[in-house]
Amino acid sequence: MAKIAMKTPLVEMDGDEMTRVLWVWVKDKLLLPYVDLKTEYFDLGMKHRDDTDDQVTMDAAEANKRLGVSVKCATITPNEERVREYTLKKQWKSPNGTIRAALDGTVFRKPILVPNITPSVASWKKPIIVGRHAYGDVYKNAEIRVPGPGKGELVFTGADGKVERVVIQEFKGAGILQGIHNTDKSIRSFAKACFNYALDQKLDMWFATKDTISKTYDQTFKLLFEDEFTAYADRFKAAGIEYFYTLIDDVVARIVKGEGGMLWACKNYDGDVMSDMVASAFGSLAMMTSVLVSPDGIFEYEAAHGTVQKHYYKHLKGEKTSSNSMALIFAWTGALRKRGELDGLPELAAFADRLEAASLKTITDGVMTGDLARLANPPARQVVGSEEFLDAIAERLRS
Ligand code: NAP
Ligand code: MG
Repeated sequence: MAKIAMKTPLVEMDGDEMTRVLWVWVKDKLLLPYVDLKTEYFDLGMKHRDDTDDQVTMDAAEANKRLGVSVKCATITPNEERVREYTLKKQWKSPNGTIRAALDGTVFRKPILVPNITPSVASWKKPIIVGRHAYGDVYKNAEIRVPGPGKGELVFTGADGKVERVVIQEFKGAGILQGIHNTDKSIRSFAKACFNYALDQKLDMWFATKDTISKTYDQTFKLLFEDEFTAYADRFKAAGIEYFYTLIDDVVARIVKGEGGMLWACKNYDGDVMSDMVASAFGSLAMMTSVLVSPDGIFEYEAAHGTVQKHYYKHLKGEKTSSNSMALIFAWTGALRKRGELDGLPELAAFADRLEAASLKTITDGVMTGDLARLANPPARQVVGSEEFLDAIAERLRS
């Protein structure tokens, strides 16, 4: 059988630890037998980032802008321990942070649902998709550890020299100060990315901030979303979906009681926290897909989980692991499907559908890794190791 051809290469960003091990197996067992895979390869493994002074991450982000679609493995964000473990030159920044800043996008995280894994929240019937603004706020902040009494101020100096000054706090003793920002441009593209996603997937869209307390910062998010929505209102009506704005605490209460089935647009920090809550309540971090969409139509597909360090250390000792590669597989299928759509290659998109179906069938057949076996109802028929799980998918993909 001839392999499926590709036109434009994908940007392939390799990563670290257990996910790096799984990456090779996913390619060898599930992709290379069927697809004449074209990629521009970037090694974002910890060692190579250090060797290149992190230039490789910047190069990968640039390639992503040039070629449009990338697929990324999980990578270590170094802390003190990692600096010692890998004898790094310094504590390099998070590669995800670098790529998000370069693409100024919105991250959409969607759980992968299977009937034999029931969500922890009994009322959830449909996926909850979290759309996370991936720019600014506390992720690009300036902070001061206030040593003692004094005045904390917020100062803005306009390009015309005009100064605006607000007192934050008169400190009587030690404390902390933080300055955060966002831009109209980024907030508007966040709004557009979410409205487009909701229309594309025919989903209601919910958005929330704390505008009653933050009367300028959060209120601006609310107002800019309202303004952007005017261009979408007719299309939303025609699609039978709605845009719903409320307060962040109200939305949390509603989400937990509802049945799901909406896009939940979240500010950067809300999205960081809530996407992990939603992922673990739907089952496992490994059952969550993640795509970064930039305002100019650039896509980065990744797994939402980390490098599964504990499993990797077991793997290195020759012990059996049971790591779930679903999120990595869905990162590849997401990227291949998008490439297929953009390049007019329906057979490539159809292959992505088939691979996803084979992966889901494996789990619904009762063959699963340990993380899912803990939650399965009815119980798993067969709890398999990391590599066996991929073999079980490969078998179903063949037939
Ligand atoms: P993690 O890799 O997500 O793993 C945390 C725990 O979640 C694992 O120990 C495992 O639980 C479970 N788990 C996660 N993915 C799994 C999978 N595919 N299959 C089965 N179980 C899975 O987070 P971490 O251990 O806190 O972080 C490890 C490294 O990942 C860190 O260096 C961090 O910087 C990096 N990280 C990268 C990304 C990214 O690149 N997107 C995101 C987050 C973290 P059990 O041990 O109970 O089996
Ligand atoms: Mg998080």
